[in-house]
Amino acid sequence: MSPDAESVPAFREAIRRGDRRSIARTITLLESTRPDQAAFGQAVLDALVADTGGAIRVGITGPPGVGKSTFIEALGLHVIGQGHRVAVLAIDPSSPVSGGSILGDKTRMERLAQDERAFIRPSPSSGSLGGVAQRTREAMLVCEAAGYDVVLVETVGIGQSEIAVHSMVDFFLVLVQPGAGDELQGIKKGVLELADALVVTKADGEQRASAERSRGEHARALELLRAPTSGWRPRVLIASAFTGEGIPQVWTMIREHDQAVAASGEREARRREQARAWMWSLVEQGLNDAFRSHPEVARRAPELEREVEASRTTPAAAARSLLESFRKG
Ligand code: GDP
Repeated sequence: MSPDAESVPAFREAIRRGDRRSIARTITLLESTRPDQAAFGQAVLDALVADTGGAIRVGITGPPGVGKSTFIEALGLHVIGQGHRVAVLAIDPSSPVSGGSILGDKTRMERLAQDERAFIRPSPSSGSLGGVAQRTREAMLVCEAAGYDVVLVETVGIGQSEIAVHSMVDFFLVLVQPGAGDELQGIKKGVLELADALVVTKADGEQRASAERSRGEHARALELLRAPTSGWRPRVLIASAFTGEGIPQVWTMIREHDQAVAASGEREARRREQARAWMWSLVEQGLNDAFRSHPEVARRAPELEREVEASRTTPAAAARSLLESFRKG
């Protein structure tokens, strides 16, 4: 199907039927840097909007090597076994500077990837974190329209990407390693404050006892950290993706949370707030793009940067001057 304006309804129907090629193609179009393709993707997304919102949205983060992909595969397979359809999306913050992807390539989660009831999509690979997060959020909506009723969004626990994931999910899960001692393994306090639950991974074999100890330590740390702003108290569980222990309990917990926040109205309140924040972040990105591509601003900026660097003018004066050029049109 070629992406011309007439084919929007056809794409919409195909996606609503769950046609995987149309889902993947639409996400690719949304990610495209070609304006005509991106615009077509947006048109399809606009047509789907009434079909979105039906999934439990779960964010999963943790440091490299904690076992994210193994855990997500185990959880995904369990959730499918409960009669759901699962989409796994990702936000990989790795920049062209750091080189290559942190979350790894498509060979991960092979068993889940082979299942018809699962749809796995790697992170959009280029652009700013804001841009990547936006694409992932759009992919989530496409998957919801296609009938995936559980969406797992993965990110690696470094930097700002957890905040981006938190801003698009209903439930935010942080994975930690067993045997952390008193240290919180460099997980930033800010990330723990976002967590609806921690899961200590690899709770099997020799590490099982230390996973139990870590659970206790993390539970105490969370108690101190988090003022209960909502009815939900963050929990700490242990799980092993190898033995399967704890995986059903993680899913049960997510379901319990979902029911609680649906009943209290917190889920809709959180989603409304997320949608509002997303709108403003798109406005800010759009303004930023318009500003930087403004001919007069682009012409004068390098010179003003040099002036600022050399302390010949202040950053504030230079910024004022650039904004003035922009406002003049
Ligand atoms: P990621 O970088 O966070 O996605 O971590 P991976 O899922 O790639 O796992 C990192 C390493 O931990 C791999 O060698 C896995 O085999 C191992 N691992 C993952 N889950 C478990 C588990 O439940 N038990 C044990 N013992 N090892 C695990």
